[in-house]
Amino acid sequence: MKTIIEPFKIKSVEPIRFTSKEERIRLIKEAGYNPFMIHADDVLIDLLTDSGTSAMSSKQWAGIMDGDESYAGSKSFYRFEETVKKITGLNYIIPTHQGRAAEKILFSVVGGKGKFIPNNTHFDTTRANVEFTGAEAVDLLNETGKHPEIRADFKGNMDVQKLEDFIKNTGKENIPLCMITVTNNSGGGQPVSMQNIREVKSVCKKYGIPLFLDACRFAENAYFIKKREPGYADKSVLEIAQEMFSYADGATMSAKKDALVNIGGFLALNDEEVAQQCRNLLIVTEGFPTYGGLAGRDLEAVAQGLEEVLDEHYLQYRIRSIEYLGEKLVAAGVPMIEPPGGHAIYLDAKRFLPNIPPEQFPGQSIVIALYIEGGIRSVEIGSVMFGKYDSSGKLIPPPMELVRLAVPRRVYTQSHIDYVLEIILEVFKNRNSLKGYKIVYEAPMLRHFTAKFEELR
Ligand SMILES: *Cc1c(COP(=O)(O)O)cnc(C)c1O
Repeated sequence: MKTIIEPFKIKSVEPIRFTSKEERIRLIKEAGYNPFMIHADDVLIDLLTDSGTSAMSSKQWAGIMDGDESYAGSKSFYRFEETVKKITGLNYIIPTHQGRAAEKILFSVVGGKGKFIPNNTHFDTTRANVEFTGAEAVDLLNETGKHPEIRADFKGNMDVQKLEDFIKNTGKENIPLCMITVTNNSGGGQPVSMQNIREVKSVCKKYGIPLFLDACRFAENAYFIKKREPGYADKSVLEIAQEMFSYADGATMSAKKDALVNIGGFLALNDEEVAQQCRNLLIVTEGFPTYGGLAGRDLEAVAQGLEEVLDEHYLQYRIRSIEYLGEKLVAAGVPMIEPPGGHAIYLDAKRFLPNIPPEQFPGQSIVIALYIEGGIRSVEIGSVMFGKYDSSGKLIPPPMELVRLAVPRRVYTQSHIDYVLEIILEVFKNRNSLKGYKIVYEAPMLRHFTAKFEELR
């Protein structure tokens, strides 16, 4: 196979700052050993998230200049609306300032105490927005998806049998909607097959429950379907995306992912009455329905980004560069979720650091080591992010302890990826010297953003 090259040339560059290891040891300590608290200037390669970190194209920047800032009825809104409708086929398109704003509005309308929202795996903000209304967020991931070491094509699939059992036990009247997250961010960025979406839809339909896609990475998911699912090789990614959305009654999206912009999102749905209630809330919290918390120029950039993300040369480079990193890590014996997902490498901290128990946050320990060793910023997705406490204050760990290295879109080149590989291998080689951590401060919700840690001796 030939080297996959970046399908773009670089017109504008942004320097990154080199720091010494001594500096980084001091900086991470000052940050309470929490990478969210480090100044971005002190990071060399920032793989904290792929959210809002994309490089925009010259056409998107041209769109920024061309954006129509009219308060109502902006032409940029109509371009945005038309593009989202073309891809999703959904009727009512409501712009929001980011994905969680769409979630907040949607669940304020349909959630509440006594309600349950099933998903393959809820993303952290989705779960928080569901739970904030008093409803319960339920994860029904298929069994394979819970085992990092098992290689399978669609580890993001929902367990359809579990879904049906859940509906029967809970009562369909208590389930205002069912969600599928494509790709499954919190479960390793793993794709969901078209067959699974179809089967979930058929169960939902049987019980009269609307199906929503958490569509942040719909294009990456569609590309995986093209590559891996029989019958889709000759379809365009747009056609595949359209089919995915054809099973949905609604969608939430963070445009900060597959719309290749730095801010934006939307809520899309078919139910007129719910859409009306959502718009009313939007006006209170986000803004008038033709801008929804965004500037006209942002809507222009989202519309352009949604077209560019469906380019198959782009998707091939995107998925291949992460697959390349994954192949080299696996060859060196580094435990990770296999095969790699669409937007990130997820190291399996349980197998990476078998001697550090979940109560001592093995994922956090790796995150800290990657920063100290090479100035790379990553994030723990394990007991820090999702751990809960039982009534006696003992940690209830989530099924997996992961470290996510999310790759921003169109930002880093192949040599940056090679450098990341070298640093991970170095940390892996010295893994026996890594220590566990304890939390010394935490907020009541979404604690991973602001928690402070101390190293255990
Ligand atoms: C990022 C993300 C969200 C939330 O979107 P924001 O724009 O960060 O508010 C929701 N779901 C998934 C799967 C995500 O990746």
